[in-house]
Amino acid sequence: MSPVLPPTTHDRRNFQRSLLSWYDLYRRDLPWRVSRDPYRVWLSEIMLQQTRVTAVIAHYHEFLRRFPTIEKLAAAREASVLAAWSGLGYYRRARMLHAAAKAVVRDHAGKFPSATGALLALPGIGRYTSAAIASIAFDQPVAVVDGNVERVLHRMSGRRLGGEELWTAANDLLDAKRPGDFNQAMMELGATVCKPRAPSCLTCPVIALCATCGELTATSKPVPQKKREINYALNCRNGEVLLVQRARDASLMPGMWELPEGGMSSASQPQMTLRHSITVTDYKVRVWCCVAPLPVVGKWIPVGRLKQVALTGLARKILLAADII
Ligand code: SF4
Repeated sequence: MSPVLPPTTHDRRNFQRSLLSWYDLYRRDLPWRVSRDPYRVWLSEIMLQQTRVTAVIAHYHEFLRRFPTIEKLAAAREASVLAAWSGLGYYRRARMLHAAAKAVVRDHAGKFPSATGALLALPGIGRYTSAAIASIAFDQPVAVVDGNVERVLHRMSGRRLGGEELWTAANDLLDAKRPGDFNQAMMELGATVCKPRAPSCLTCPVIALCATCGELTATSKPVPQKKREINYALNCRNGEVLLVQRARDASLMPGMWELPEGGMSSASQPQMTLRHSITVTDYKVRVWCCVAPLPVVGKWIPVGRLKQVALTGLARKILLAADII
């Protein structure tokens, strides 16, 4: 397959230099960038999947406080791992993370493998994540392709590249002397300059090599969000809160703990109303303070233990808003 951008070795070298100089000066100061420890690189990459950087930062610190090493994570109970993940959503990631930690401790004596092939064999690690860990933590010359890189490549080349063509283009551009930095710089460019709807081409370090200079902006319309209303009961007694556990075979957040649904009363106002979004649904959530017993099978959990419980993101949000945690 022939290179699709920039066409000459000289231009590619210019692209690499311009991008890396810009990254060295302007990269965001993010906590996972202070270390090349593969455990930390891996953790940040898994947390950042489908989750905004700002939402990840506090969870990243707290998760490392609870599980500072891969051995501690491997030895933890699943409920503790889910509790530390609470608020990040997509809980399958946390279960896979836990399974991969066990595999690294069991099969690799606690040392992350550096080759992409061995990384790919671990639970929850796909082509993107294996390339990110291999390049950032181990300096392996493999390119990454995520949504940000894909957009930059489309605009740089002026072509809608597909599938394997994207990976080939990314690998052709890669600076093999600084592969981890180069990959992070491509993602940073897409996240902060070559943004989906309004690329800031005038501040772009590689504008001189770009085929479109912003003409190829996103054409797809955002997916319309569905609206739903939902009521929850907040039952407290003697320093305990009533929670219910989602079914172990539920398609969403199996086994996680949440407030029981219901509790509304026509005679009173809800204690609070808040908004919450899960994937393509926007929820209007009403929380009712209940004193009467509810017809649910739940468990009274002491408030002091709530931080160790695998709460759903919404339950955590409600308990925070109610000043309970
Ligand atoms: S010049 Fe504009 S469109 Fe091209 S890569 Fe830079 S920000 Fe993206």
